[in-house]
Amino acid sequence: MSASAPDPEPAGPQSAAGPVPLVLAGRRARPPRHLADLPPAERRAVVAGLGQPPFRASQLSRHFFGRYTDQAGEMTDLPRAARDPLAQALLPRLLTAEQELSCDGGTTRKTLWRTFDGTLVESVLMRYPDRVTMCVSSQAGCGMACPFCATGQAGLTRNLSTAEIVAQVVAGARDLAGGQVPGGPGRVSNVVFMGMGEPLANYASVVAAVRRLTEPVPDGMGISQRSVTVSTVGLVPAIARLAAERLSVTLAVSLHAPDDGLRDTLVPVNQRWKVAEVLAAAWDYAAVTGRRVSVEYALICGINDQAWRADALGSLLAGRLAHVNLIPLNPTPGSKWTASRPAVQDEFVRRLAAHGVPVTVRDTRGREIDGACGQLAAADLR
Ligand code: SAH
Repeated sequence: MSASAPDPEPAGPQSAAGPVPLVLAGRRARPPRHLADLPPAERRAVVAGLGQPPFRASQLSRHFFGRYTDQAGEMTDLPRAARDPLAQALLPRLLTAEQELSCDGGTTRKTLWRTFDGTLVESVLMRYPDRVTMCVSSQAGCGMACPFCATGQAGLTRNLSTAEIVAQVVAGARDLAGGQVPGGPGRVSNVVFMGMGEPLANYASVVAAVRRLTEPVPDGMGISQRSVTVSTVGLVPAIARLAAERLSVTLAVSLHAPDDGLRDTLVPVNQRWKVAEVLAAAWDYAAVTGRRVSVEYALICGINDQAWRADALGSLLAGRLAHVNLIPLNPTPGSKWTASRPAVQDEFVRRLAAHGVPVTVRDTRGREIDGACGQLAAADLR
């Protein structure tokens, strides 16, 4: 599984001669190669190419995935002369924090990252009493154009590399381990691909990132596969492909409407893959993995919150290995839509429950820092 490995000669932003043009030979430059892009055998090959014994690849990997550092000076188990060449070859700095916003007493933190080519992406860390969830971006922007989502309004800038995705989680893990998040030193327990982007539209990089996040240290970060959630608008062939990966990750499907008429407008990709096809793919995923599928439903006042739609949704999901996550709409700038009224939301919950469908209302953390679902727009606020 190395489909996400970048080109052999990645074009970094700097060289001895100064900045390198970002578009080379008419195509966009790729992020610099990083060990998190590579399966362990390929890391060893790069290390061997530098004239170093292959086991140094494990040492470097342990620094990054287990100690969350890419600083050559801290790698005292490596010979002094080898530290810089190894770190430069396999641990380039991919993300620079441009801005950090926090709320909930510092336990919800959104970071705006600048990548090697100036592209901006965001990640959110949410600490709860029993877990820490990192919400990561898989693309800069998004091409899916859902009209209620801030990211969808901006369009797609580019896919993130595997290492750019993993680096968001490593950064959160570093701050937690260092005690910089209120609540004492901690670990990242959960990762949700619910930041910017459609993860299954950047399939190879996302699946490789899941492997890096979940392989045990030193090969990866050692997070449990069951604690990783991949959320999708419903790209049916990619859902089938994901089922065949034999990963125990949770699939979340952003349904938002039980009927094609409305879903065609709320999730435009529905014009290609209809509700019935998306749910059929989801049930296949549940059957293959044994994992309960999470059905995401943003409740939008007067649009998709009618009692009859709750019943229609309940009928579609009754008896299935599924769980509904209702998300009160987080209004985005300029949107005329608002969240459903509390009584309407309660009735929606009641009707789903009456169909025997498990349902929870998501605690939408981070609204005040535009860090809640659908609010990530990577606006440069300086
Ligand atoms: N592209 C993926 C991941 C995106 S975000 C997907 O669509 O699943 C994660 C969830 O937040 C999705 O269910 C998305 O539809 C939802 N969402 C987007 N904008 C929202 C908003 N303004 N309020 C509430 N939920 C929103």
